[in-house]
Amino acid sequence: TVGPQSIVVVGGGHAGGAIALSLRENGATGDIVIVGEEPVAPYERPALSKEMLLAQVDAPVPLASPERWPERGIALRLATKVAAIDRTHRCVLLEDDSALPYDVLILATGGTARSISGSLEAGAFTLRTVADAESLRSRARISRSALILGGGLIGLEVAASLRQAGLEVDLVGADRQVAARSFPRVASDWIADAHVKAGVRLHLGSRVTALRRAEGGIEAQLANGQHLVSDLVILGLGIEPNSRLAADAGLPCNGGILVDEDYRTLGDRRIFAIGDIAERSAIDGVRPSRDESWSHARRSAAIAARAILALPPEPEEAPWFWTSQFGHMIQVAGTTDTRLTAVRRGPGVMLYLDGNRLAGIACLDTPRDFLAGRRAIASGQGVDVARAADPATDLRKCFFTHMAPHAGVMS
Ligand code: FAD
Repeated sequence: TVGPQSIVVVGGGHAGGAIALSLRENGATGDIVIVGEEPVAPYERPALSKEMLLAQVDAPVPLASPERWPERGIALRLATKVAAIDRTHRCVLLEDDSALPYDVLILATGGTARSISGSLEAGAFTLRTVADAESLRSRARISRSALILGGGLIGLEVAASLRQAGLEVDLVGADRQVAARSFPRVASDWIADAHVKAGVRLHLGSRVTALRRAEGGIEAQLANGQHLVSDLVILGLGIEPNSRLAADAGLPCNGGILVDEDYRTLGDRRIFAIGDIAERSAIDGVRPSRDESWSHARRSAAIAARAILALPPEPEEAPWFWTSQFGHMIQVAGTTDTRLTAVRRGPGVMLYLDGNRLAGIACLDTPRDFLAGRRAIASGQGVDVARAADPATDLRKCFFTHMAPHAGVMS
């Protein structure tokens, strides 16, 4: 056999599905079982807040066609929840008390949408699964107004989709900057402008203190004393990582499950954690962090699959993220730390430099520049700043490989 005899993946979301496929693509011959709580085969989530709410598609993109799982010898145990991990006997316990043995265990349990006390009872929606998107979409069809709590990317995407579907939309965000956790200032401003232009009412630097059912809908009370009544309330308050299984099994956790650069848990060499749940240990002095993105779900799966099969590591890639709202594509890659030097390249691109090296890029509707930037960040290329600042110059021609030593802030 190539690789472990039996591999169990807990969680049939994006990362869980991707690692099973990646293990097979890289030659693994042992048994692979995915145990997933959702009743559907692994799929990608981005469409849930975009195309599905806009009624452009009926279902999200599946990770593979239904035949491909059995063809690849990947067993799917859907609508099944793992209740516990028994590290001594190397098995996972399912809710019906049956046990599933493993040689290698992969935790890809993602997160659960956060709510505030009393909000779900008052009829508020959250959005994490295809089932959530279906019920939200049916309710939106019979609603005239919506209130979104949370100025992060999911809240903003839902606000944009519902506004495009013709609803009156209010969005309440605690930070003065939208999407502040994921995006640099310039990208947040692009998004906020698009919302304001489209007629979304943004209430930033504000909080909802209580939600209750009221005549004519759901009433939200804001910390500033204002009251808003809407037909529909959606919570976009981020996720709580599903790390309970790991913590109960004694694996070191810190919100997420602590892993090394191969996504191996710090407490057990046979157990890996990937996707939203993985919290990478301090690398190069950067504090441990989780990356909740489509690209990280794929990349962490690919890196861990190669580590499990003792193959050479994946080539470097800069972390990246995108959102699409009101027909605009906003993409960010690498580091966009405020300590870096920001250089504007026309109205739709911001470059972030560490010395003369490109460390990050933010793009508005400029996918070619984004791709060129992502590649340059991964290969550590230097930038000719004067040329790069001119949007008429092809960005690919503004990089150089042999750079002089620099004393960058991030090194
Ligand atoms: P998930 O995909 O959440 O999968 C975890 C799975 O584990 C779930 O199916 C869960 O039911 C299951 N599970 C949990 N506990 C157990 C258990 N005990 N037993 C069995 N199964 C269990 N990222 C981007 O980069 N760009 C975007 O535009 C974007 N849009 C998004 C829109 C929405 C609405 C959402 C929700 C996310 C979006 N993301 C986007 C983020 C991206 O989808 C996530 O980062 C990615 O899904 C993480 O994959 P994962 O496998 O770690 O977690």
